[in-house]
Amino acid sequence: MSLEFDHTTLGQRVLFGAGRAAANLAEEVRLRGSAAVMVIAEGREAELARRVTSGIDVALHHDDVAPHVPVAKADKARAAAQEHGVDLLVSVGGGSTTGLAKAVALTSGLPIVAVPTTYAGSEATNVWGLTEAARKTTGVDDRVLPETVIYDAELTCSLPVELSVASGLNGLAHCVDSLWAPRADPINAALATEGMRTLAAGLPKVAADPHDLEGRDLALYGAYLSAVSFASAGSAMHHKICHVLGGTYDLPHAQTHAIVLPHVLAHNAPAAPEAAERIAHALGGTDAVASLVALRDGLAAPKALRDVGLRESDLDEAAELSAAAIPPSNPRPVTVEGVRRLLTAAWTGTAPESS
Ligand code: NAD
Repeated sequence: MSLEFDHTTLGQRVLFGAGRAAANLAEEVRLRGSAAVMVIAEGREAELARRVTSGIDVALHHDDVAPHVPVAKADKARAAAQEHGVDLLVSVGGGSTTGLAKAVALTSGLPIVAVPTTYAGSEATNVWGLTEAARKTTGVDDRVLPETVIYDAELTCSLPVELSVASGLNGLAHCVDSLWAPRADPINAALATEGMRTLAAGLPKVAADPHDLEGRDLALYGAYLSAVSFASAGSAMHHKICHVLGGTYDLPHAQTHAIVLPHVLAHNAPAAPEAAERIAHALGGTDAVASLVALRDGLAAPKALRDVGLRESDLDEAAELSAAAIPPSNPRPVTVEGVRRLLTAAWTGTAPESS
């Protein structure tokens, strides 16, 4: 890797500590002098939000959240924020909840304090996403970057093991894809490497015992590093494919990432030996693909896109849409046929291979 680069570090306060979220949020709200706080949290996150916000006054609880931020949901949340004269957005939840807060911030400029409860990593990026008519649009805007992130591993203990594992592999995917992304550089590669090492150390502990706080801490810290590396390096082959699968066919985000990642790695690794070596070492092995497959299998993560709702008849279109979006930084030349083969293997759940 050349030591000539152009790197941007996004400015964000990060507060990390198990059992500390409520106290950290109360202090943050006090420092800001916020008078009208809108708390965004849906379904299973609502109970967590009650705990986290126990020390602050809340002007508005908003729970109308859906995956991939449908435009209609964004408009509803924006109107609610305006109606209540909101001056601070607090999101407590996974990437869908953070995403809705970002949609409100995008048009209002309101600051966000994000309290993540999964390993998706949206809280550390300035990327927003909105979905309309089965097409997902994303963009980059510093207004959507949460000003403060409050991490508390206790809040992740209720995340079911299956979702924890898939979400953790979503974090790992940020790291892997960072290594050949358009703005890959030595700084984001260092963050990605430590992110992979930490996630690989934490996730097996979480899978063995979802209340293992040390495992939860490691996984959450790794997820944060992964998101910082991804925000810096940009989106590459893996994310472009998963973006198409999630936005066009409404597949579950974390599981889709977990399934596709070994296939993208197998596809690119022969053309990216430095990245492959880095990944293998970070995962504690000698071969990148074998190490990732061993981790995935040890975690009993999902393996086949056909099991999460993709139809075989969608594969041609998905390959075309994905191939058109993959950036030229990809280490291996991209063809529709190559992506189709990769997607076919991911759809059937066969062993990842480099063909
Ligand atoms: P999610 O936010 O949809 O959450 C999945 C489910 O887990 C939900 O039902 C939620 O209620 C539940 N949940 C969350 N935390 C929980 C907890 N601690 N205990 C129990 N249940 C809990 O899924 P996700 O994978 O976190 O996020 C996916 C979304 O985030 C996608 O739309 C994706 O595009 C977006 N995303 C955006 C970025 C970005 O940079 N903009 C980065 C990563 C992900």
